[in-house]
Amino acid sequence: MRDFNYAPAHSVEEAFAADGADTMAIAGGTEILNWFRLGIAAPGRLIDIGRIEGLDTIERDGDALTIGALATLNQIGAHQLVQDHARVLAQACLAAASPQVRNRATIGGNVLQKTRCAYFRAEAPLPWGCNKRDSGTGCAAFDGLNDRHAIFGWTEDCVAVQPSDPAVALTALDAEVEIAGPAGKRNIAATELHLTQADAAAEGLDPARAETRLAPGEVITGYRLPIRPAARSAYVKVRERASYEYALVSAAAVIELSGDAIRRVALALGSVAQKPWRLAEAEQRLVGLPPTRDAVLPVLKQCFGEARPLEHNGYKVAMAAGAAARAIVEAAR
Ligand code: SF4
Repeated sequence: MRDFNYAPAHSVEEAFAADGADTMAIAGGTEILNWFRLGIAAPGRLIDIGRIEGLDTIERDGDALTIGALATLNQIGAHQLVQDHARVLAQACLAAASPQVRNRATIGGNVLQKTRCAYFRAEAPLPWGCNKRDSGTGCAAFDGLNDRHAIFGWTEDCVAVQPSDPAVALTALDAEVEIAGPAGKRNIAATELHLTQADAAAEGLDPARAETRLAPGEVITGYRLPIRPAARSAYVKVRERASYEYALVSAAAVIELSGDAIRRVALALGSVAQKPWRLAEAEQRLVGLPPTRDAVLPVLKQCFGEARPLEHNGYKVAMAAGAAARAIVEAAR
């Protein structure tokens, strides 16, 4: 048992008033309490931001949909505005976790969950190397069981994936992430929030431990989603059982049609990298094609040139192409 201090914050400003060095923020608590139990994190002070009023709203603001960081996954999945304008996000939220967890888990915390790598999610002290837990100890998954690991953007330091379902939908929707911190407020694109291991290395950060572009002390306060009246969307999650399971791969598609042809498409894959992976080449090459499996799948299969499967996860390439094709077909339906 390890003691820590607990304090509720009643405003974002109050949350930042705490000394940040040994402090972590908690909202729904569905993920962070696991970190404490396993020894992944052990802060001396916990600031509860889950009671801050006004951070759980879901509203239309002109040509955008705004979603507060404290909105729960079940609230978002059931909300009419989300179902009407961002169906892919509603589906992704309702595909995540279990109903009980979705009643507590917030959209702000969900996208910041850590990898489900089994070597990482073990009780301390670890009997194997894991650079994400203990820098410089190696990566047990790289030479071990890596069937659920990354095919894009990894380095030999770490081959973990980001498992959030809503993060994939937010990326395909071109959402903006609203952030607040000791230095003030700022917005970044959802596509820029997460880092692959290769991204982190290129930016001079620790490839195994740097997972997002949030600065120390910053928290997500909400999301802003552009409303595209002609867009249709869908989320496809491939998993080993239908309930309470993380994705082997997932795909989010947001498409606009011109007659029977694709006029614009945004595609993001989940559980293939440490960030939702946009298929930029496919988004270009699919324009003009009908949204049918026969038309889009051959093109999608040609757009995985950057993929670098590990020893046990080569199946993810074909599975991800198939999931992306299904997402396009379901979006168009
Ligand atoms: Fe640790 Fe990352 Fe390797 Fe998993 S993949 S064992 S999280 S360093």
